[in-house]
Amino acid sequence: MDKQIDPAARRIFCKCCLAPAVIAASGVGQAAQAGWLDFLTGETAPKASGKASVVPGWKWSKKAGHFKKMDRIVQCQLCPNGCRLHRNGRGTCRVRVNKNDVLYSLVYGNPAAIHIDPIEKKPLYHFYPGTDSFSLGFAGCNLSCLNCQNWELSQKKPEELQNYSCFPHQAVETAMQKKCRSIAYTYNEPSVVFEFMHDTARLAHLKQLKNVWVTNGYINREPLLELCECIDGANVDLKSFSDDVYRKLNFGRLQPVLDTLKTLHEQNVWFEITTLIVPAYTDDSAMIRDMCAWIVDTIGGDHPIHFSRFGPHYKLKHLPPTPPSKLLEARDIARSAGINYVYIGNYRTGDGGTTFCPGCRAKVIERIGYVITGMNLKGGACGACGHKIAGRWS
Ligand code: SF4
Repeated sequence: MDKQIDPAARRIFCKCCLAPAVIAASGVGQAAQAGWLDFLTGETAPKASGKASVVPGWKWSKKAGHFKKMDRIVQCQLCPNGCRLHRNGRGTCRVRVNKNDVLYSLVYGNPAAIHIDPIEKKPLYHFYPGTDSFSLGFAGCNLSCLNCQNWELSQKKPEELQNYSCFPHQAVETAMQKKCRSIAYTYNEPSVVFEFMHDTARLAHLKQLKNVWVTNGYINREPLLELCECIDGANVDLKSFSDDVYRKLNFGRLQPVLDTLKTLHEQNVWFEITTLIVPAYTDDSAMIRDMCAWIVDTIGGDHPIHFSRFGPHYKLKHLPPTPPSKLLEARDIARSAGINYVYIGNYRTGDGGTTFCPGCRAKVIERIGYVITGMNLKGGACGACGHKIAGRWS
């Protein structure tokens, strides 16, 4: 579940043929899967003529924002990595490059993955439930998590992938055609695609579409404040509550992520938190207790937290999956700390996806996987007792 691309879709992606995945997901039909499809027009291109809108390698680039020129180098100021780049040098994220003392984004208009996902898959459980989100992913990430679920995207340069040619107005038009409620910037770390995300999100608002940012939260305050003007919902990974673990597991630091949570709260952007419980790294009960206490003290108990089950991935294939008992323990800790909405992801328990009313404990929204199976929400409040349920509701 969660932020991972569907494995079947990823196999299609590896064969340079993502378009059928989105067409099939949207119910348009599968007849054309044998050939190439243009995902914007739905037209089939004869095999002999090549690959429609799928671009071998990357094609577009755009001057980036948030950098400063220094003596013979350029410093990117988008994220806490603060990469200093000599001419032709590339950032840690692999998608921002110094060309003649100007910083360029190499992914503008070049998504490598396009799908229509239920909003519950982000996961966002308190944000227009039951709606579809037009989801775009790109090459690149500013962290290097040992357990990355989407490393085939995030740990690649754009020219190592097959990409779509898709600009902001095309993303917005297609999202509307497919009757999506939102556009999600997801799969890789979308912050490193800042310019595309910002331009698309502003256009989307003009068409009454919502914008969703699925992120590691590793971004500087100034660009984050710009983003807050056009992002409506976010899911932020809080990967641990230890700077040491952040350095070893993710090659990042903890404090910038905490700062992002505080800023989103202060700017009134709806967000939910995901914590992956990785055995031997992020499963320490005392650490989870400290993390939940910080959340309640700093941003209150109304932002949902999703404890997600780890599966052996990427560079941590030697570790076992998270024991279900550890997920249940984390849920108990969070509830005891005062977090009102606690969910379990990547593992099905009877009520791991159920929203309970903090007022009367009635079931307000019931889910199995990404599917809503019961709803007792009236005007954003519990249908049983009238207690307001935090979130963004239709
Ligand atoms: S966004 Fe990329 S280039 Fe910029 S500081 Fe972060 S990792 Fe470096």
